[in-house]
Amino acid sequence: MDGRALAERVRADVAEDVRRLGGLGLATVLVGDDPASHLYIGMKQKAADEAGIRPLDHRLPADTPEEELLALVARLNEDGDVDGILVQLPLPEHVDEALVLRTVEPVKDVDGLHPVSAGQLLLGRPTLVPATPLGIMALLDEYEVALARKRAVVVGRSNIVGKPVSQLLLQRNATVTVCHSRTEELERHTLDADVLVAAAGSPGLVGADMVKVGAAVVDVGQNPTDAGLVGDVDPGAAERAAFITPVPGGVGPMTIAMLLLNTVRAAHFRRGELRFPS
Ligand code: NDP
Repeated sequence: MDGRALAERVRADVAEDVRRLGGLGLATVLVGDDPASHLYIGMKQKAADEAGIRPLDHRLPADTPEEELLALVARLNEDGDVDGILVQLPLPEHVDEALVLRTVEPVKDVDGLHPVSAGQLLLGRPTLVPATPLGIMALLDEYEVALARKRAVVVGRSNIVGKPVSQLLLQRNATVTVCHSRTEELERHTLDADVLVAAAGSPGLVGADMVKVGAAVVDVGQNPTDAGLVGDVDPGAAERAAFITPVPGGVGPMTIAMLLLNTVRAAHFRRGELRFPS
């Protein structure tokens, strides 16, 4: 499943919408010096810029007091030029991450991590949903992978990938199993999966022989190794799977495209063109 190709189309559609809306603004907040976070923010800002969404860059030193960060988020909430707010995680230890995330105005919560966004998703109501799960669903739809009545297995239960993608698969009438680090005999579950989403952050965790013949496999893992970026699934699984996402070039580009799509969605909510969940 080619994430680059689909992401390119989504980004072209977003650029069209942004033109129609007369330009949008995406505020990014990065605290500290984590090189990976700087890289991710840079990629997101470049993609935003290319789609006509103005990136509003906020970078703060690692020792920024929590109150200062909360005050910045409060200002961005009020700022009429800001359609979406993205706080890059992880935040430094001394900052209460949950508090910062729930300070973001839900209508601008393009990462879908505010409790209102997460709660609305759980209730099956329209809301802003985290970008990676949205990208996974878009890829499965693009390749017309059947979900209703199928067995879906998600490896990983993080708030940003595992939990929300499980909810989206459930909404689409898959029978969903969620596995995690305490799951025993992981292969018993994965071998049963018509749709397998691996999001554990553990290189090669899912061996080729752990994949059901004919399954659709989405490899979310992005693990830096000496050999470059590798996923959670052994690439040899391609021999057994009907569909599989490459790493890189699968879920990664889709995540960025869906963040841009969420920014457009947030703008529609704010302008009252889409009803914001209450
Ligand atoms: P987290 O570390 O927050 O969560 C990992 C999850 O995997 C946890 O629920 C953990 O279980 C589970 N897990 C870890 N090891 C095992 C194991 N051996 N067997 C079964 N389950 C296991 O990671 P994220 O969800 O943030 O990210 C997961 C991966 O996806 C990472 O490689 C990350 O880089 C990548 N990623 C890629 C994105 C993209 O755009 N392509 C976007 C976001 C993430 P437990 O809860 O019990 O600890």
